[in-house]
Amino acid sequence: MAFAVYPGSFDPITLGHLDIARRAATIFDDLVIAVYDRPLKNLLFSIEQRVALVKEAIADIPNIRVDTYSGLTVEYAGQIGARVIVRGLRAATDFEHEFQMAHINHRLLPQVEVICLMASEEHTFLSSSAVKEIAALGGPVGDMVPPVVERALRAVNATRRDR
Ligand code: ADP
Repeated sequence: MAFAVYPGSFDPITLGHLDIARRAATIFDDLVIAVYDRPLKNLLFSIEQRVALVKEAIADIPNIRVDTYSGLTVEYAGQIGARVIVRGLRAATDFEHEFQMAHINHRLLPQVEVICLMASEEHTFLSSSAVKEIAALGGPVGDMVPPVVERALRAVNATRRDR
């Protein structure tokens, strides 16, 4: 199968995201991790920082590249000629959201399919927001994110505490 898009906020990328990306990269010839520039969420990292962290985290995987997009995910997928959008499913709450989004996307652009990979057991309860909260409180996140993200979180939180 040609190539797929794995879209998300990646604020920041976690080992859960990486696991999905690695597995998707073994199914598809190529994978584009697409970082959404302005999600309706409180962001900790800028779009440039989120992209840089993803790039560093996937540096050892040759068939993954990183891009950014704004606007509708399905339109972006259509623009770059991707037929598949990859998403990760952790729990029933993810399912409700993804199911609804997939139907809306399908209505907008029927030729683009959404394929969901199940989160690995060890990453089921891992989310970017939990990582940010733990790091802000000075807790350890070394087994939740790649080392480059751990360093970035430490740097952000150090400057915040200095303020
Ligand atoms: P979005 O704002 O689009 O949900 P996220 O960066 O939060 O962006 O997540 C991107 C995708 O990765 C989503 O499909 C999400 O369900 C999935 N995901 C997030 N965390 C994990 C994890 N720990 N394991 C597997 N998939 C995950």
